[in-house]
Amino acid sequence: MSDDVRKGKVSASRLEILALCPGSEQLRRTLPDTALDTGDEYTDLGSKLHKAWETESTLDLNEEELEVYQRGIETLDRIIAEWKTEFQLETVDEGQRELRLYLNDPSTLKIVASGQLDRHYGHFSKPNSRPHVLICDFKGLWSPHLTPAERNWQGRLQAVLAKKEYDAKHVRMAFVKAMFGRQDVTDYDEAALGFAETSIFRAIWESEQPGAQRRAGPWCRYCPCKPFCREAALYSELPSVARGGALEETLKLVNLMPPEDIVAVWRKWGEVEKIFEAMEARLKALPEEEQSRLGVRMKEGRKMAAIVDKVGAFNALRALDISSEKILATVAFGKGELVALYQATANCSPKDAEAWYEKTLDPFIKRDRAKPSLVEI
Ligand code: SF4
Repeated sequence: MSDDVRKGKVSASRLEILALCPGSEQLRRTLPDTALDTGDEYTDLGSKLHKAWETESTLDLNEEELEVYQRGIETLDRIIAEWKTEFQLETVDEGQRELRLYLNDPSTLKIVASGQLDRHYGHFSKPNSRPHVLICDFKGLWSPHLTPAERNWQGRLQAVLAKKEYDAKHVRMAFVKAMFGRQDVTDYDEAALGFAETSIFRAIWESEQPGAQRRAGPWCRYCPCKPFCREAALYSELPSVARGGALEETLKLVNLMPPEDIVAVWRKWGEVEKIFEAMEARLKALPEEEQSRLGVRMKEGRKMAAIVDKVGAFNALRALDISSEKILATVAFGKGELVALYQATANCSPKDAEAWYEKTLDPFIKRDRAKPSLVEI
């Protein structure tokens, strides 16, 4: 989206990063639009779903997207019903969808921020009786790191904007997590709306001070400035960040992934293994100095000491008066070796040798199965 509608000011979705890292907006303004364009197929999917929720036209959605759309609508209906019951609101109006509202500095009246309301509800047709407003923000994707509604700066700004627009005394802010059919709801009463407004002006003020500090943290993941940000680079090098976190975070994500996505990745397992093997082979082939520069080295192979003179070992054990049964109990027979032995003794074909193995040795074999494995249908 161009900055035109935002009047070049921070939007609700960017406020979270601004509040956590006051210097981020100043860095952002030094970068060209092309550097900040971080869109990908998931951004496109999110936009597509938002369009459908706005227009209620689902023609562009495929089957899976349609399911997410429907779950979003069902969750929205549930949120509205609960809100109406809790505050005994019999009939409510829906406000303009995707309504963009602006926050003005009270002393200069200049716009300092804006936010868009995906859906919002209240008593808009009765101007003097609209103390309650419900705002709903759709999240079409997994949003595993979405800050909970009660601490979320995007929701905070949307609530304040709704309060100002409708002179509301109470705003309920709800995230509609369509992918999972879940909701995350928080309430702002009059006092909370006042504190929220003060905190937003303070965060914006801090971000506009010369040399506003950049504070790196987990939120850098979503900051489009991160490829250009020294603080983010230093943060990612911190031992606690580089060592921990990443794997745990990824494992958490696996729990949130839809099975369709998991199976697509699982199918690549063999290829990924081959890629890692090829990478390891390249590293192994590097000269010692180069390996040392990269922080790796060749380690001696593990010790291997197989008994090759089995008869000698057997006799040595027998000499200690250990029974043949006890010695044989420590030995594992391999099917391949026994089949080959019989084939050589009976001078028969491999097939006959295998048939002999299966029939004659059957009473001595414990047949079992390994754990089930996953295969392609
Ligand atoms: S990458 Fe992190 S530290 Fe850098 S500007 Fe963005 S939020 Fe701030």
